[in-house]
Amino acid sequence: MSFIPSRVLFEENTLNYELGRNMLEYFKEKGIEHSFLASHNRVTGIPGNTPQKAYAEGKKTLVVGVRRTLEFSPCKPSAHYQLPIATSCTGKCEYCYLNTQLGAKPYIRVYVNTDEILERAQRYIEERDEVTIFEASATSDPVPVEPFTGSLAKAITFFGKQPRGKLRFVTKFTSIESLLGLEHNGNTTVRFSINADNIIRKYEHQTPSLDERVEAISKIHMSGYPIGFIIAPVFIYSGWEKDYDDMLNRIKNQLAETGRSEISFEVISHRFTKRAKSSILNIFPQTDLPMDEGKRKFKFGQFGYGKYIYPKETLKKINDFFSERIGNLFPEAEIKYII
Ligand code: SF4
Repeated sequence: MSFIPSRVLFEENTLNYELGRNMLEYFKEKGIEHSFLASHNRVTGIPGNTPQKAYAEGKKTLVVGVRRTLEFSPCKPSAHYQLPIATSCTGKCEYCYLNTQLGAKPYIRVYVNTDEILERAQRYIEERDEVTIFEASATSDPVPVEPFTGSLAKAITFFGKQPRGKLRFVTKFTSIESLLGLEHNGNTTVRFSINADNIIRKYEHQTPSLDERVEAISKIHMSGYPIGFIIAPVFIYSGWEKDYDDMLNRIKNQLAETGRSEISFEVISHRFTKRAKSSILNIFPQTDLPMDEGKRKFKFGQFGYGKYIYPKETLKKINDFFSERIGNLFPEAEIKYII
């Protein structure tokens, strides 16, 4: 599934960079609408006069910019720093964690000054005595725009040469051909976000199917990258065990061909905050996501807001099921957590 934007908005100074000039040529050749932005902070020219249209048009818009601040945000607890190569994503998952973080028009922004960003990463690595881990997907899924930017490939090659620097990213997408065969030296971990097939079809609009994702991760695995699966969000409904069992078996069958076993799993049950519920209902008024507060347990979160999680007995069922099934099918895999 490749992403073709409906419009591309360039910051003027992107043309000072080879990648900016190449991208302009590329989109001109393809006949894709493009224009220039007067200011980095004011992205204008995206239509949409209802929340749904604004969201849809934002998701079809690519903004090409220069990353100005080269101070990286922290990324606790899974990494030390965010690696800023893109923001937003071309997918339209109803429960996307970015829905409450991006504006009404969640356009995709990429940066052309990758070399400067990686030079800054180098300095962060040198400032510390221990291994420094960077997360490339804290504010985006960077894979769908990779065919235009090549930024991930550049970052992977950069980290491949770092004795004390590691990279990780997570994706639901499959544009990974250019990442195969890179000299990553095991320093980049690729994690795939997956779910039961029917959940993907129902809620993860404009993302690849389960089979497409599993095929992509098997190629990544075959290329020697450490890999991981984030199974999230897990839903409980009639027949959930069968569907998740089927998902795990599809992975098992595909990965068996690679003959490798370096795999990790993270399992996250469905949860929502009041704020996320209201933003989801704004964009997807017809959603049938289970968000009935009365059927959930309220839990205070570490960032000062509470979330609605499944009751304790249900969480135990999820824990028992995934521990048992992953343990049987992937005895050498690491289960990082089931929450
Ligand atoms: Fe959000 Fe990930 Fe879905 Fe993109 S693929 S819309 S980042 S949940």
